[in-house]
Amino acid sequence: MNERDSEILSQVLLDHGYHENGDMDSADLVILNTCTIRAKAEQKVMSLLGALRKCKERKPDMKICVAGCVAQQEGERLLQRMPHVDVVMGTQNIYEIDYLIDKVNATGKPVVATDMSRDFRIPAFLPQAHPTPAKEKYPTRSFKRFVTIMQGCDNYCAYCVVPYTRGREISRNPEDIIEEIRVLADQGIKEITLLGQNVNSYGMQSQDTPLPCSFPQLLHRIAAIQGLRRLRFTTSHPKDLSDELISCFGDIKILCPQFHLPVQSGSDAILQRMNRKYTVARYLERVEKLWQIRPDLALTTDMIIGFPGETDADFALTMDLLERARFHGSFSFKYSDRPGVRSAGFSGKIPEKVKTERLALYQKRQDEISLERNRAYVDTLQELMVESADDNGFQGRTGTNHIVHVEGRTELRPGEFAVVKIIHAGQHSLKGKLHPQGELRVIKNLFL
Ligand code: SAH
Ligand code: SF4
Repeated sequence: MNERDSEILSQVLLDHGYHENGDMDSADLVILNTCTIRAKAEQKVMSLLGALRKCKERKPDMKICVAGCVAQQEGERLLQRMPHVDVVMGTQNIYEIDYLIDKVNATGKPVVATDMSRDFRIPAFLPQAHPTPAKEKYPTRSFKRFVTIMQGCDNYCAYCVVPYTRGREISRNPEDIIEEIRVLADQGIKEITLLGQNVNSYGMQSQDTPLPCSFPQLLHRIAAIQGLRRLRFTTSHPKDLSDELISCFGDIKILCPQFHLPVQSGSDAILQRMNRKYTVARYLERVEKLWQIRPDLALTTDMIIGFPGETDADFALTMDLLERARFHGSFSFKYSDRPGVRSAGFSGKIPEKVKTERLALYQKRQDEISLERNRAYVDTLQELMVESADDNGFQGRTGTNHIVHVEGRTELRPGEFAVVKIIHAGQHSLKGKLHPQGELRVIKNLFL
């Protein structure tokens, strides 16, 4: 989501005559688009801002803008802590970046724009074709793009800051989404990833009139757009994963066999205290159903380790779930308190040392399972979308979103497709060799 917001910031500035410059020391304007989901993300922002103070001492005309969730959360407080910052800009204010900078230039004073409104709607924002910066030889955004389909979140998981930093859940109008994707497809974009905190509840927001289009219906409409080859989405909430959405994996050819379905814990007691509104059994039942329809679907998840009150027995249940689901990959994190969330006030906080030990155990086992899963691809044929190429070979992604490296000179260019045979599996990527076009073999053993 932040990557997409950064694209928008960059597009607004390019439209107003700015040029991209990847070098922090010589830039006139530096924007930090920030994340506050975990304590570590916020610490990174603060240390980068410390480094920027020195840049600004050398170059006093440089403007520094902090955008995104840290800006939303801290507002005025950020200026008190970091007086060298010029613009503090919240999550709903990114479309005003040029105006805010003009204001700083005109008044010589810093500005804070972090107002959030229930009436805010993501503007219809059609992508412009801008010349790509010279340093990016093959920018990924020339063949794959993110499209935001909803803003905010109403779920209030006990640990999560998102509802406070991104506001209420509101879905974009389907016509705007279709139009944006049609323009992208006309520009030659081959792959679209739809974005939202919980795309499964698209169209069903509680405080507005529900839209006459559900997420599965939206997927069908997008799939009819000429020129698209791949469609992905993230993120899904298990409580809203409907049978209708699962069927889309059988019905929509361009829907990639990949599903990111965050589970967060393997213990029902913890899930309940997290306010997740599903059980482990229900999660596994949904996953089984997905695999019945798409046996080759690669499943990934998010896991929080050391939520307040997590006992050894709860953690054992999380390890047990890992064995049962055999996720292709996990994004796993130590729980950290975030300002204003409910779990910050929960008792039974887990010592750092215990969280570190449990996380290491989880990640070690996940790495082994990822490798085992990846080995099952060896000797299969896979269709790759090429993402980068040079004189030594190329790199691309499978529909399951695995990275594959292929050695040897090639005429293939990013955004083009190739069939490769997988010849080696590592933990985080695969190796393949170019194969004459042929029927793709369905991989049957991946879910065993
Ligand atoms: N909307 C998505 C993702 C939200 S944030 C969803 O519901 O899945 C991405 C991930 O960050 C979450 O899935 C969760 O695993 C992690 N996360 C969020 N708050 C956290 C916290 N306080 N401590 C540790 N991890 C957290
Ligand atoms: Fe956060 Fe839960 Fe909303 Fe995801 S669904 S953004 S974890 S509150």
